[in-house]
Amino acid sequence: MINKIINFSKYTSIKIGGNIEISYIDDESIEKIYPLVGAGNNILISNNVKKAYILSKKFDYIHIKEDKLYIGASTPSGKIVNFCKKNNIKNFEWAYSLPATLGGMIRMNAGVKEYEIFNHLISVKFFNGYVYKKDIPHAYRWTNIDKIVYEAVFEIEKGFSKELVNKFSKFRENQPIIASAGSCFKNPKGSFAGKLIEDVGLKGYRINDVGFSEKHSNFLVNYKNGTFDDAIKLINKAKKVIFDKYKIQLEEEIVIINS
Ligand SMILES: Cc1cc2nc3c(=O)[nH]c(=O)nc-3n(C[C@H](O)[C@H](O)[C@H](O)COP(=O)(O)OP(=O)(O)OC[C@H]3O[C@@H](n4cnc5c(N)ncnc54)[C@H](O)[C@@H]3O)c2cc1C
Repeated sequence: MINKIINFSKYTSIKIGGNIEISYIDDESIEKIYPLVGAGNNILISNNVKKAYILSKKFDYIHIKEDKLYIGASTPSGKIVNFCKKNNIKNFEWAYSLPATLGGMIRMNAGVKEYEIFNHLISVKFFNGYVYKKDIPHAYRWTNIDKIVYEAVFEIEKGFSKELVNKFSKFRENQPIIASAGSCFKNPKGSFAGKLIEDVGLKGYRINDVGFSEKHSNFLVNYKNGTFDDAIKLINKAKKVIFDKYKIQLEEEIVIINS
């Protein structure tokens, strides 16, 4: 493992976190490790965290073998979509401009509307080999994965669609362009987290420099000097107010790393 200090207030998309000693994993025999970070687009990390792990560039690859796509877990989403464009492969267009590495996408079952990364997945490689999709419990923006994802294997279907890429780029236009961790809460059954936040008057609401975006109320944004504590206070406030009013228990989509 190679060690390096990374400033997480620069590394994460929400620009919160301190200096953390990172060990880069290049050994596929490790089962699980905590805290594991991908590209840091859906995490909120406390300044108390002093040590974390990231998969090394050894896992940044895309291969085609016997009509299947093998993608290493540290491969960025943009690289995957570009590869699919070049090779006329469909089903990954939705991941265009979704900031992620493959490992983060698999663990979160990332997706946009009816598209999600598990749709065309065949299997995931963990420390002890490949596990088929049917044996990995998963649902909307959720998996039970607690082990390191090293690689994933996908079906190949021909027919990359530039139109779909354009459609998803347009969809991004209503998202804030300032520092954010993407969606803060999962949509509860039968409702939208953003709508609930708006209905209780918290759209645009801030605690110091952390707020629910004025553009997209379920996006947690950092206006400049936001802290982990401000973000946690805001999350807890929204959960309480929405529970008190609608008896709906919101669940975080962002991953909170506190130690
Ligand atoms: C502007 C913006 C827009 C976004 N839009 C969307 C959207 O439309 N849809 C959507 O689903 N998400 C969206 N997100 C959230 C984010 O893009 C996804 O959750 C993405 O999958 C995170 O990938 P990451 O590599 O950054 O993972 P991180 O945020 O670094 O980590 C997320 C989780 O994955 C785990 N993880 C990372 N790598 C591995 C691995 N190799 N093995 C096992 N676990 C691992 C981490 O431990 C952590 O629990 C958005 C985020 C931003 C900032």
